Order: sequence, then C-alpha cells, then structure tokens
Amino acid sequence: MPYVIVARDLAPSDVAVLPHGSVAALLLEESGPTSHTVILARAMGVPAVVGCAGALRVPEGAVVLVDGDTGQVRVAPTAAELARTTGRRAAHGPATYRPGRTADGCPVALLANIGSLRDLPAAVGCGAEGVGLLRTEFLYLGRRARPQVAEQRDAYRTVLDAFPEGQVVVRTLDAGADKPLAFLPPARHEPNPALGVRGVRAYAAHPEILTEQLAALAEAAAGATARLGVMAPMVTTVEEAERFVRACHDAGLPWAGVMVEVPAAALRARDLAEVAEFFSIGTNDLAQFTFAADRQLGGLGPLGDPWHPALLDLVALVAEASARAGRQCCVCGEAAADPALACVFAGLGVTALSMAPAALGAVRRALAGHTLDRCRAAAAAARAATGAQAARAAARALLPALGDA
Ligand code: PEP
Ligand code: MG
Repeated sequence: MPYVIVARDLAPSDVAVLPHGSVAALLLEESGPTSHTVILARAMGVPAVVGCAGALRVPEGAVVLVDGDTGQVRVAPTAAELARTTGRRAAHGPATYRPGRTADGCPVALLANIGSLRDLPAAVGCGAEGVGLLRTEFLYLGRRARPQVAEQRDAYRTVLDAFPEGQVVVRTLDAGADKPLAFLPPARHEPNPALGVRGVRAYAAHPEILTEQLAALAEAAAGATARLGVMAPMVTTVEEAERFVRACHDAGLPWAGVMVEVPAAALRARDLAEVAEFFSIGTNDLAQFTFAADRQLGGLGPLGDPWHPALLDLVALVAEASARAGRQCCVCGEAAADPALACVFAGLGVTALSMAPAALGAVRRALAGHTLDRCRAAAAAARAATGAQAARAAARALLPALGDA
C-alpha cells in the first residue's frame, strides 16, 4: 500500500532514492513549490504539498488525502471524499498522444523536463514530443571529479535516441546555489548563493566545464536524428549570450539558445534575440528574482506565484521578442505544468511548453479545449488583473473547458 511521507523537509538526494511505486505523496512543513525537491518528486509522478504548517502533527498511520494540484490536505477523509478523489483520478482516463495544439490547430510543442535518464520512459510514455529541458546536473552531482566526455556523450545520446524525430534541448551545467559541486567550489564565500557565481557565470573561471560538455554534445549529435538545442542557464547580458552561442557554434552545435531566468534578460529579450537562437523561460528562477522571494522558502511560496501579472508581463516581453525574431519561445519552469497557465502562455505567444511528464496529459487536454483567441483573451484578462489570485480567476473564467479540475 503506497504511503504518504510527512517530514519537515527533504533534500533532493532523499527524493532521488525513494523506491518507485511505494510513495503516494509528500507532505512537507517547509520547502517551496518550485524547489528541486518538489521538481524531482513531480518528475517521478509523486504529488507534493509543501510549506504546510502543522504537517508534522498528522498522526502516524492516518489516512491522508494530498492534492498536489490544489495544495489541499485532508486528514482522515470521509468515505465519500475518498471515493470522489479516486473517481477524479479515474476520470482523467488514459492520456492521448496527439501533438500539442489549440482547438483551432495552432501548434504548441509539448516537451518533457528530464532530470536523469530514469525520467525518459515516462517522457516517452506520456507522449512528449521531445525534451525541452535536460537538467545535466545529474551527471555531476555527488561526484569528486568531472564526468568524462565519453560518459557524458553516452548519456546525451541515450536521450537523443529516445526522440528520433523530435527536439532535445540540453541545458549546460547549472551548478551553484542549491546545487553546489565538490569539485567546483566558489572562489570565495557567497552570502547569497542564488545571486552568486552560478550557471553561465561559473564558466569563465572553469572553461573546461563548458568545453568538455559541448564536445560531448557534439559527439552525441553526430549521427543522431533528433534536433539538438543547447542552452545556457542564468544568462543576464547580451555579452554572456554572445560568448555562449559562439562557443556552441565553434563546437559544431548549430542551435544555441538561452534560458530567461533573470528579469534583466526578459526586459531586454529583444536584444538577446539578435544573438540567441531560441529562448526557454525558467519561471522558477524568474519568479524568485522578480518577486525577490527565495524559491526554497515554503513560507514565501504565495509571493512567488507565477500567476502574478508582473511575471506574465515578463513572459509576454520574451514571447513578443521571439516572435519578431522568428525564434522558438518555450516555458520550462514548473508553471508550464498548470493547464490554465499553459493556455495563458500560449495566448502570450509562447510556442512550446516543457514539464514533468506526468503533467503532459492535462496540459494537452487544456490546449485542445480552447482556441488561440480564447487563450489570448485569457492572457489579456490575467494581465489586466492586479494580483495573482485575481489573474487566475479572470483567466479561468474564460477557459471553460478546464472545468473545476
Ligand atoms: C527554472 O528556473 O525555472 C528552471 C527551469 O531551472 P531550475 O528549476 O533547474 O533552476
Ligand atoms: Mg533555473
């Protein structure tokens, strides 16, 4: 019988070793909704409710309903509540595997976020059209030395071969902040590591990291049929983007893009679009920096709500700049997995969405239930609101096919 794990917090490494199929849900007093602990759990299809004050008071052995979509938790539910929840699961039915499209046929590519090779079967099984975000840290974390080029090449090739007709977007190493690496210590103590030498900033002091990773990617791509995109995390300036794109081209990798996770990058996306060949918006970090709210702090979760019109305005700027330059614009943060928000992103002009494989079915159904004009109207209504809750309510009122799921 699967059980619910109740804890103050868990590290991403604790979640990575949970036995498959035995955990029904996580209920944590701390941790934020976009922490890497929650991202990993979702990738494994385990719902999580975090920042839940009083969770540790749930008596051992109690029956608990945990709704990872709404954040609701019910201890000792009635028989009727239990039946309703299990009925709702069944009502979702088997996933359909058509490519992502709005009701009037506008394509929105539905891609998977992959945090390790373990996630690949679920991504293929849930009908992903490719990979929108391969978090390559899994090759580096917990190691005393950098992984060899050959080991990296084999891992990347496995992912490329899983989507022979699709696209695979690989993010180069995003070390630092909550993902420190033993062999890549910061040069000096960083009081605010989320704002420190992380992501693309770390490559200047350790050029071999990027050179080897790009060499491994180029070797993996040789002979593969999937379209390989390579993108840099935490890009802030045009100069960083230029350096990265040049390094990719020099390595023989023709499709090089940037993640938009820093508000400055979103605000000046039109400049970046001159250089970057595609964009992928990381709403987890973009929200953290836009609202100055640490994504690891459960208590600040509501402040980092991606429905806030400030975040939607930034996404709109990036989507508009991408459209003008004819570039792909993906959202690969956790926000893409919210079916209503996915419709809003499509309405803002986002052309691809990447998410935990388990979320693909619901997002595919949400898009298929609404025309692009509907999505645009929902996006406009959300941006006209003054706060996250009002934005969500205004958009949902215009997206009837979502029901009350
Ligand atoms: C993001 O910041 O939204 C993102 C996708 O990257 P990560 O969650 O790995 O920081
Ligand atoms: Mg990020």
